[in-house]
Amino acid sequence: MTQTTEQRSFQAEVQEVLNLVTHSLYSNKEIFLRELVSNASDACDKLRFEALQDGSLLADDPELRIEIEADPEKRLLIIRDNGIGMSREEVVENIGTIARSGTRRFLEQAREAAAAKAGKKAGKQSGKKAGGENGAGGDSRIDENLIGQFGVGFYSAFIVADSVTLLSRRAGAAAEEGVRWMSTGDGTFTVSDIELPRRGTEIILHLKEDEDEFLQSWTLRSLVGRYSDHIGFPIRLKETEPADGDDEADTVEWNTVNQASALWTRPKSEISDEEYTGFYEHLTHDAEAPLAWAHNAVEGAQNYTSLLYLPAKAPLDFMLQRDERHGLKLYVKRVFIMDAAEQLLPHYLRFMRGVVDSSDLPLNVSRELLQENEGVRKIRAAVVKRSLDLITRLAGNEPEQYATFWKQFGTVLKEGIVEDMGNREKIAKLLRFTSTKDVAAGNVVSLEDYIARMAEGQDTIWYITADSLNAAKNSPHLELFRKEGVEVLLMHERIDEWMMGYFPEFEGKALKSVAKGDVNLGKDEASEDDDAGEMPEVLSRMKEVLGDAVEGVRASRRLTDSAACLVLGEHDMALHLKRMLEQAGQSLPDSKPTLEVNLDHPLLQRLDVAEEGDFEDWTRLIHDQAVLAEGGQLEDPAAFVARVNKLLLS
Ligand code: ADP
Ligand code: MG
Repeated sequence: MTQTTEQRSFQAEVQEVLNLVTHSLYSNKEIFLRELVSNASDACDKLRFEALQDGSLLADDPELRIEIEADPEKRLLIIRDNGIGMSREEVVENIGTIARSGTRRFLEQAREAAAAKAGKKAGKQSGKKAGGENGAGGDSRIDENLIGQFGVGFYSAFIVADSVTLLSRRAGAAAEEGVRWMSTGDGTFTVSDIELPRRGTEIILHLKEDEDEFLQSWTLRSLVGRYSDHIGFPIRLKETEPADGDDEADTVEWNTVNQASALWTRPKSEISDEEYTGFYEHLTHDAEAPLAWAHNAVEGAQNYTSLLYLPAKAPLDFMLQRDERHGLKLYVKRVFIMDAAEQLLPHYLRFMRGVVDSSDLPLNVSRELLQENEGVRKIRAAVVKRSLDLITRLAGNEPEQYATFWKQFGTVLKEGIVEDMGNREKIAKLLRFTSTKDVAAGNVVSLEDYIARMAEGQDTIWYITADSLNAAKNSPHLELFRKEGVEVLLMHERIDEWMMGYFPEFEGKALKSVAKGDVNLGKDEASEDDDAGEMPEVLSRMKEVLGDAVEGVRASRRLTDSAACLVLGEHDMALHLKRMLEQAGQSLPDSKPTLEVNLDHPLLQRLDVAEEGDFEDWTRLIHDQAVLAEGGQLEDPAAFVARVNKLLLS
């Protein structure tokens, strides 16, 4: 029957993936079934979608299904679907080359994970090379996660099989246009043209010596129940009832062994936590259970169901996904239409996962149409609201779980303060910060906590931004606040300065940086007079020395211990952010900080009586110290060292 047989090699990277998958997964071999069933289910989804345009594709065999059949004598396990199928080119492209970007990423991540593991074990045994049989049996979670996430699930067949045969015929193609692919996973595969009586794909696994358990009906049943119950197509298992008497034949039955109805279409009350979690795993390939979920059926002007999940962990390539977002699947009347994360979720909620199934949208809805559709806009607003409510509930009811969430996704959520004006108040309540009150314990506070413990009369929420927690925590700008017992939020993530630029107020309280403008803690009004009067001569002399490096030099009210600090104008960009943007090649408006000095500090008193030459050295030294304390870089570090040494030795 074979017409043209061709032997080809896997691309080197595919072979490496294959080796990794087959040799480093011992404890969870059975996931191969989940992956193959999931591919079969995807194939049925794809056909149902294509059949919207061309009904004839489905007409000859309209009941989409997945079949599992074991042949104990030949030690074969067969997974079959009547989905979209593949042409010869598609088989070669999808299974054998790294055309798909996922493969390469998988490799990078797997190498990293293997290197990290080897590093951990280095004490006991000398590091083994990644990519080999590096005995990851004890900890397969990472690998398991990787397999699904990066779309290399097909290769998991080789975990239990020593040879894999794939037969496929594309929907709409003629019987002679079938294709047969075979490999033992050792570097090469063959492809041939064959005749196939029906559309779809059949994967035939020849099981390895010790994998007999996967031939047993009850094992297969329980695996389908555990991993694939929620698949929306019937999964039928071929089961044999032994005959009662000798002359009677065994009876063969095809039993449906999953629920076979899309999980979200069932009533909430009938779905167990395990089922929700199982479906999440199917949806995301994330082996870690989600933190929370929300399942809602909406009837009225819009009719749709949403099932939203809050993951516990960012997927490994979360940050890479910025521009190719997925995670929210759009169905129309149970038919999978497309991944519509971009249309249904704002960017700052890109960690959410789930399904939206609309009964109103047309089945042939396009991306363009989604963008303009009024109904979609309403669904999107509802999805945002549900997501924020879900997160808010978690914050209120499960502070520990919320801490996990915040660690993983807090930075992303902060983008919402800028991106989503309408929900700013809601998002603001979810923010958590380190603060001067709790920094030692490593606790974080919410803005509401901060307000609740404000002293009477305080009407400002104070914060500092810096490029590290240490720089924030030890900043001279905090001295006065510490002395007066006023709490300051310590913000040390890159996004903070940007976010705060758009976030001037929360619940009627102004949010202000301690490093910008004037700080008025509303105390000691009288004692301000000494600054307000004429400027001590020393300050103008210092300004003369420093010239354009500073906006001005003035006496400080914020310092108690340090000699000096740099202060920005009310609306200036924080120095650390400015540095970062300048390094990235951006030209920024020229704003200079003001040098504030502590006139009571011994250095300043020394300065007062210094000789002309010394005065210049001391002044530059004080300025350089302020630059360093704020995390900045000196323009001329060598001159600084020379100056320090000169002064030390004088
Ligand atoms: P993923 O499913 O994440 O894309 P896999 O390694 O599981 O990655 O599958 C690789 C590709 O092979 C799929 O994207 C699909 O194009 C094709 N494929 C696998 N199994 C089937 C099947 N049963 N029917 C049709 N195509 C399939
Ligand atoms: Mg797959």
